Amino acid sequence: MPPDSRFFDRARETMGREERRPLLSQRFVDTFQRAYGHSKAYKEVFESAGLKISDIKGLNDLEKLPLLRIEDLVDWQKREPPFGGFNTIDPDNFRRIYVNPGLIYQPGEQEYVDRSWAEALCAVGFKPGDRVVNTFNYHLWPFAFMLDESVKMIGGTVVPTGVGNTLMQVKIMQGLRANGFLGTPSFLMTLAQRAEAMGMDLRKDILLEKALVSAEMLPESLRTRLETNLGMIIRQGYGTVFLGCIGYECSHRTGLHVPDSILVEVVDPQTGIQVGPGAVGEIVATNFNNSYPMIRMATGDLSALARGQCPCGRTGPMLKKILGRTGQATKVRGTFIHPWQADEVMSKYREVFKYQVVITREADRDDMTFLVEMKEEGSGTDMLCARIERDIKDILTIKGSVQVVSRGTIPDLHKKIEDKRTWE
Ligand SMILES: [Zn+2]
Repeated sequence: MPPDSRFFDRARETMGREERRPLLSQRFVDTFQRAYGHSKAYKEVFESAGLKISDIKGLNDLEKLPLLRIEDLVDWQKREPPFGGFNTIDPDNFRRIYVNPGLIYQPGEQEYVDRSWAEALCAVGFKPGDRVVNTFNYHLWPFAFMLDESVKMIGGTVVPTGVGNTLMQVKIMQGLRANGFLGTPSFLMTLAQRAEAMGMDLRKDILLEKALVSAEMLPESLRTRLETNLGMIIRQGYGTVFLGCIGYECSHRTGLHVPDSILVEVVDPQTGIQVGPGAVGEIVATNFNNSYPMIRMATGDLSALARGQCPCGRTGPMLKKILGRTGQATKVRGTFIHPWQADEVMSKYREVFKYQVVITREADRDDMTFLVEMKEEGSGTDMLCARIERDIKDILTIKGSVQVVSRGTIPDLHKKIEDKRTWE
């Protein structure tokens, strides 16, 4: 193993704070100016905030820029298809168009190389020559491709297994002697259980050494079970498809290291003003993507900037673990569920009086149930439930069940999405 393999770019990841800040500042100003000059949406957003291009000179001016929320992106995409006008190059020049849940379009890599996930992989211990199963979804969504590219950047080999077919996945891991895993922690647990059910010895037949897990919460109890049963290390990466990796754990597990290629703030969600180190706020990030920049994009996730330094030698900022969500959007089995998507499902059904989505978790698996009150008691038939379940799968892209409840079951002033999961 080369001596620097714990780092993707040791010099950048360990540089002093005084050295890093002017570099970040310059990248931010360059990104802002390019967006102002070449993106129709950003020009309008910044102009309506009363900003001239000369008003933004460095990191101290960050808070002058409005927050960009996913809802804004969705609105803009309706007005300016396909990318909402946030692109700084002609839409025809992108290599791919990804389709995120909710039919939110996203252009795929042009000349911009996102190094953030490669940095995360190195911190977990991925190295040249590794054979890595990537169990994220290669169908429509960008995340599997982003990780796929990142494994290539560090000299590893990807087995693009995608989701599903656990029997085949277990046989592939065994047959190819895969030593790295990318996926959700709950899917890794599913595969481990499947392997055991097939009579395998998890320590001898499954040779995984490390996993970068993402897209859902990692309860410490689940991490411990996976690490013990499989004899491997499990580290988590946090990010969004639009922004890239925002934080990752190193071997010391002291928190989430912010990659070198992204600018992260923790802010008051109402005002967009930064809160101090240690204070809880919403994670907002700016990437330096030169063809589809995301500037002050609000993630809806809560965390705090950590104080102190990690023994691994990285000197950049660190986030504490993710502490929850600001709004009602939540992740179920690795996929975001927004209230507006649930509305879209139910808008077809005039016979429904009221509904609520309830998320629970049992045996390391998320369950999503739509509780439905009918206008007329007794009108909720099995056939109707099956139709709604099909629409849930179509629109939210994951399975959910429908349960008809009697009038008055769903409380007034209810949350549209009630998350009853606990993460201990
Ligand atoms: Zn560290």
